[in-house]
Amino acid sequence: MYYVPDGTTQCGYYECEDCETGFLDLRIAPRLVCPYCGEEVDMEVGPDEEMPVAHEGAKLIKMLEGAEEVEKYDILLSLAITGGDFNWID
Ligand SMILES: [Zn+2]
Repeated sequence: MYYVPDGTTQCGYYECEDCETGFLDLRIAPRLVCPYCGEEVDMEVGPDEEMPVAHEGAKLIKMLEGAEEVEKYDILLSLAITGGDFNWID
C-alpha cells in the first residue's frame, strides 16, 4: 500500500482542485490541505496574531469502504504517479 497502511478498510479518496492530484487519506473530512501543493499551517503564532487559515484545496470525492476497494484505488493512484494509465478509474 502506498497511501494508507496495509489492511485499511476505510479511507477517503481526495482530489486537489489546485494541482489535480488524487490521493487517499485515512482522515475523513469534506476538505483537506493538499499534501502536494498545500501548506500545513504553522500553529506557533503569537497570542495577538490571527490564526492562520489553511487552504484546503483537496476535496473528498468518494468514501472508500472495504479493504478491496481501498487497495484498488491505492494501486491505481500509485500507478498514476509512476506514469501508469488509470483512465478507467471512475
Ligand atoms: Zn494540490
